[in-house]
Amino acid sequence: EHIANQIAAGEVVERPASVVKELVENSIDAGSSRIDVIVEEGGLQLIRVTDNGAGIEGEDCEMAFFRHATSKINSGKDLFSIRTLGFRGEALPSIAAVSKTEVITATDGSGLGRKLAVEGGHVAAHEEAAARKGTDISVKELFYNTPARLKYMKTIQTELGHISDYMYRLSLAHPDIAFTLKHNGNTLLQTLGKGDLLQVIAGVYGSAVGKQMLPVEEESLDYKINGYISRPELNRANRSAISIIINGRYVRSFAVQHAIMNGYHTLLPINRFPVVILHIEMDPSLVDVNVHPSKLEVRFSKEPELIRMVEDLIKQALGQQVL
Ligand code: ADP
Ligand code: MG
Repeated sequence: EHIANQIAAGEVVERPASVVKELVENSIDAGSSRIDVIVEEGGLQLIRVTDNGAGIEGEDCEMAFFRHATSKINSGKDLFSIRTLGFRGEALPSIAAVSKTEVITATDGSGLGRKLAVEGGHVAAHEEAAARKGTDISVKELFYNTPARLKYMKTIQTELGHISDYMYRLSLAHPDIAFTLKHNGNTLLQTLGKGDLLQVIAGVYGSAVGKQMLPVEEESLDYKINGYISRPELNRANRSAISIIINGRYVRSFAVQHAIMNGYHTLLPINRFPVVILHIEMDPSLVDVNVHPSKLEVRFSKEPELIRMVEDLIKQALGQQVL
């Protein structure tokens, strides 16, 4: 069990940003409207995620740290209609196996909850504690017991870059959630959680960019797409400012990204790229998110239709500009 968790940790917990991703996704799944993330030393010293979500029940608390103990899937059939971000139940055990993790959580506003401490996969403490409704998880000294993994970490700046990039994508995916990100005491991201995507774009890319975005919107029987693309003048040297969000999940889709480029490059030089945020809603059964443990890669069952829609939508938004 313990070794299995360390092995799984290699898959799930590649670097500090993977911990941030898994913890924040859990907070989102718990219905939080406010999520605060504090990191120190690129996340290698501390990653702390505090949310105001549902909290974890007493009996479920230790369970959450065992492998495949997810509360989110009840039957095999559920796997095909995944709405929550997590579903494999392997994130917490994997993280706890390679760090010193502490959870303080409460499911109501009574002021009383519990605290669970796990070190290197072993329960170090489990007791009643004062707690606000929601969950507060601290992950300290990541990879302290896996020196080989620690050796592969890049500079603090690089690790922080991955963390902030992920936080940017998550805030773009959830304009209705108020996020903050602080590193060594500096605030790197702060969104209001008022549901205004344009406001989040301005927070992430700067207010100048926020003012240069064109809205896009399109709907078919299978897909509902809306979002923003930057005006042609605002083109960039790389594609890193393209975010594709499927049913609230930030994903990597080569197919959709390619469709965006195809649309864009019919009007602009092929070495220039837009800022794009696309929210695509579809029946969950049309998308397979269980391709890789990171859940970043997806496959679509009606891909050609989606591709055509996205390409047309981009051309249309830009075309109206050029004319
Ligand atoms: P998964 O998200 O795949 O279910 P995890 O290992 O990430 O698995 O989490 C295990 C379980 O712990 C979750 O199913 C959930 O019940 C509980 N949990 C984890 N984080 C939170 C949180 N922030 N708020 C409420 N419950 C949580
Ligand atoms: Mg999870």
